[in-house]
Amino acid sequence: MQKLRFILSIYTIFFVSCQLFTQVKEVKQSPIIPNPTVFIQSEGEIEFSSDIAICNLNLPLEIQIYLQNQLKDLFKIKCNFNSENGLIQFKKIVNVPTDSYTINITDNILITYSSDASCFYAVTSLIQLIESQSGINTISKCFVSDSPKFEWRGMHLDVSRHFFTVEEVKKMLDLMAFYKFNKFHWHLTDDQGWRIEIKQFPKLTAIGAWRDSTVIGHANTIPNQYNKQREGGFYTQDQIKDIVKYAQNKYITIIPEIEMPGHARAALAAYPEFSCTGKQHGVEGLWGVFDDIYCSKKESIDFNLKILEEVLTLFPSEYIHIGGDEAPKTRWKECANCQKVMKENNIKDEHALQSYFIQQIDRYLTAKGRKLIGWDEILEGGLSPNATVMSWRGEQGGIEAAKQKHFVVMSPSSHCYFDHYQTSSSTEPLAIGGYLTLEKVYTFNPIPSALTAQETVFVLGGQANLWTEYIPNMKQLEYMMFPRALAMAQSLWCTNKPNYKSFENELVNHQFRVLSLMKVNYSKAILYPKTNLIRTNKGIGLVVSSIKQDEKFEIEMVENPIVSYSNPSVIKTLTSKDTLFFDRLSSSNNTKLATITIKSDVLKKPLRIEVNTNSTIGLPVSFATSPNVKFNNRGDLALVDGIRGARPWKGDEWLGFDQDTIEFTLDLLAVKKIKECKIGFLMANGSWIYLPKNVTIFLSKDNEHWNSLHKSKATEYFSQFVFKKARYVKVKVVSNSKIPEGKEGAGFHPWTFIDEIEIITK
Ligand SMILES: [Zn+2]
Repeated sequence: MQKLRFILSIYTIFFVSCQLFTQVKEVKQSPIIPNPTVFIQSEGEIEFSSDIAICNLNLPLEIQIYLQNQLKDLFKIKCNFNSENGLIQFKKIVNVPTDSYTINITDNILITYSSDASCFYAVTSLIQLIESQSGINTISKCFVSDSPKFEWRGMHLDVSRHFFTVEEVKKMLDLMAFYKFNKFHWHLTDDQGWRIEIKQFPKLTAIGAWRDSTVIGHANTIPNQYNKQREGGFYTQDQIKDIVKYAQNKYITIIPEIEMPGHARAALAAYPEFSCTGKQHGVEGLWGVFDDIYCSKKESIDFNLKILEEVLTLFPSEYIHIGGDEAPKTRWKECANCQKVMKENNIKDEHALQSYFIQQIDRYLTAKGRKLIGWDEILEGGLSPNATVMSWRGEQGGIEAAKQKHFVVMSPSSHCYFDHYQTSSSTEPLAIGGYLTLEKVYTFNPIPSALTAQETVFVLGGQANLWTEYIPNMKQLEYMMFPRALAMAQSLWCTNKPNYKSFENELVNHQFRVLSLMKVNYSKAILYPKTNLIRTNKGIGLVVSSIKQDEKFEIEMVENPIVSYSNPSVIKTLTSKDTLFFDRLSSSNNTKLATITIKSDVLKKPLRIEVNTNSTIGLPVSFATSPNVKFNNRGDLALVDGIRGARPWKGDEWLGFDQDTIEFTLDLLAVKKIKECKIGFLMANGSWIYLPKNVTIFLSKDNEHWNSLHKSKATEYFSQFVFKKARYVKVKVVSNSKIPEGKEGAGFHPWTFIDEIEIITK
């Protein structure tokens, strides 16, 4: 044993130094996700019998139980821990980095670990190395040396918008643990439901845990319609203790979130005396941001401190999340109590008043030996001395906090919001909006490039968030979480992250099978046919491709004589080598809508694409103001591809702009008599996307001398009649410069989203 350990340390030094010199070399994805720091495959494999012996050298009991259950549940392998000379041997070692472990598989398996957590990580890696085929379990010989890159590898779950049972929460914890996540951010309170029993205030759960109705469909669909079903639930303190213990056994810390001063409608439905107006409201059934928040008077702060007193007895976590986001100051501006607090404490405005509110909570938590963490709005009006910031509205909050020498957890909505769509496929179930592909999650780096090396030490790590407005059940939760959680695990764990293609191959060839074994309803979006549009000199072309090289797609088209095809003999099946052409029409009078349906084995319902073959498709567009890189998936072709953007938006078909003035010019290639100009804008205020103020159209025959038409109000389906001759059409769009107070994203610049421009000519 002594000798083996010596060889092992030589190995480690050797591999670590190899790594230093070969960092430019591409890292190959191993069968383990997240990919370990070092993975060396050697020749041969060991076969597992259905009954294996494990040498138990003071292995923590919870790890023994975990290993035993995983082997039994996934591979039907029985194991016994009392052997002296087992197939698997564990050894705790000292003087190695925290949470590091090695696995050496020769004719037997030796696992070394530095901490109990790292022993658990080694076990999850070992399980992923087991290959099961027709009842025979094997494991390839290899060497693994591993440790995490970030200490905060978080997943979040909102149980307020939709309630998840104890068993469901435990399944989520199981899945997190399997991929080495170690922080579970439990969003326990919000406007739509209070989910934690607080003994001093029984009405919080008796009243606050239940709502009488819930909005049907997307909240952007006006007028909102409601079901009339009572919905809700809560966790008793005993259930919470049980879940906390369950998570501890899997080396996960639970960080509870108790929202204040905003997102408090459920609490205020139970105790309206702690709001500014004292007026009675029900528990909210609509998603959004609401004006009624906690008053900043002493009684309201004391109420929250008493709640936290009980929360601290249930959660041993060092960090306690207090929300702090999306708190409109509307009521505070009108409230005599709030204005009195401001006057007495010499507070200059309502943002500083929020800071004053949070500071009192911070002082309490600090005195109790805990740390306050909140969403990046807690920066407004001055950051409380001991606060840690969770940056969600982009990276900026995290950058500011780190520069002020505060710790941060990065969770920008651009890469970490798993409630956004993961594919633009027409078959996707309803989601809040947005577009976050697996590949984009994979590019997530918690360290913002704007930080200096000294400042990066303040970045604890990152976190993916699961807001559940549009996630009503566990099946849908798993669908939104997987496989994106695996990409997130790689971003948070891997020192050397393999390239995306290699990760994707591992999912398709191995991990999808593991997820199926664990009965996870994961999304197969990466296996769907992908459609790509190209510009041709006569219009546009549609290319369909798939991750599987030679897959054939069945295509059906309805009502379109205009479509031609690169290989007319096989019009019903398309391969990735073929293109469907849509020619631009010479006149707009016979605009045609082509409905294409694509069938593939992985799709439950066929994919549907509607192309409006008009006289504008494929024409050149030049931008004077560029779309923001975040929402520019298809470039200028998106505006003239004949495909309208989806509502709720999926980001793929929409171009997003964040300037006050947007300007672009379309070239009709010849002077034509223009009848009408149509432009599509998006209104999705919950996603900070607003209709612009106005639109002005300019016409020119030579791209030099311009005639301006009258300024018009922007609408979602904007249309303006023209009746003039021109070759160039310039569109100038003016947006509002700030999102109004009381709305999501208040104070930020709103986005302008455009999907299409169509010029109707005579
Ligand atoms: Zn007030």
